[in-house]
Amino acid sequence: MKAATLTSPQDVRHRPLRITEVATPEPKPGQVLLRVRACGVCRTDLHIIEGDLPPHRQGIIPGHQIVGEVVAGAPNDLPVGTRVGVSWMGGTDGTCQYCRLRLENLCDAPTFTGYTVDGGYAEYAVVRSDFAFPLPEQLDDLHAAPLLCAGIIGFRSLRVAGVKPGDRVGLFGFGASAHLAIAVLRAWNCEVYVSTRGASHRQLAASLGAIWVGSETDKPPAELDCAVTFAPSGDVVIAALASLRKGGVVAINAIHLDRIPQFDYDSLLWGERQLRSVANMTRADARDFLQLATEIGLRPKVTPFPLDQANEALIALKDDSIDGAAVIVV
Ligand SMILES: [Zn+2]
Ligand SMILES: [Zn+2]
Repeated sequence: MKAATLTSPQDVRHRPLRITEVATPEPKPGQVLLRVRACGVCRTDLHIIEGDLPPHRQGIIPGHQIVGEVVAGAPNDLPVGTRVGVSWMGGTDGTCQYCRLRLENLCDAPTFTGYTVDGGYAEYAVVRSDFAFPLPEQLDDLHAAPLLCAGIIGFRSLRVAGVKPGDRVGLFGFGASAHLAIAVLRAWNCEVYVSTRGASHRQLAASLGAIWVGSETDKPPAELDCAVTFAPSGDVVIAALASLRKGGVVAINAIHLDRIPQFDYDSLLWGERQLRSVANMTRADARDFLQLATEIGLRPKVTPFPLDQANEALIALKDDSIDGAAVIVV
């Protein structure tokens, strides 16, 4: 099969993904073989490919927003031909203290799609059948792909931030994940304030119903009940914290931050403000979000790239040169 494999982690401008022929994987018990139809591109892919996250396997095939069709290894509940989505969480041990507490996103021995096991930048992928989610017909391949990490983990971020209907919510950064989160927030009648770099991101945020948009250094004109940060930048986290009311929460939707700058506790965190990270996702997050996305007719803005152009898709993500989500179409 054709696949994009990571040669060695380095700047995406050096095109570290090699488009090559590799053996088609075979499913073991409990796994299914998918013919990949589309795979979303996520910032975490960029962190893996550039080495911000430590490598786990040589020659890994990245990609963890897979839309595929079951072609082999099918259990009764996922017959051949079923169209499924697969996300970042590719498996858990089911036995550690976190799994037992229904916090499987924090599992001590997780499998991460496209990081610890091969992912979806390929014509075929093998995945655990109990971590594959049947997709509703209303979601076509291209528009379902970005929902699978950007969407699900964005949705989890809103949960971690404790968003309630009608809240004033800040979104700091406006890429693939935020442009899906805003649709959920609008459906919950929240007031959404967006701070982001890039005039086109600000325009998109306004067109999707933000009541205020500003640059990354502008402060929202109202105190926020909660905020989610999407940029891999600690400065942005501090900006979000500075916009909160007392008792408010900032959820950091980033697997990697450049650093956290020193900040003034008395004015920024005291008053029972909270800073929380968002780690991974649970299968319940995935199911709840996919159902909500279908109910509200969520339709991401996508830019397709052929598999041969996987490096270019990552460069576009790094340069912030596309609105919405990049999706590799296989
Ligand atoms: Zn576990
Ligand atoms: Zn992701």
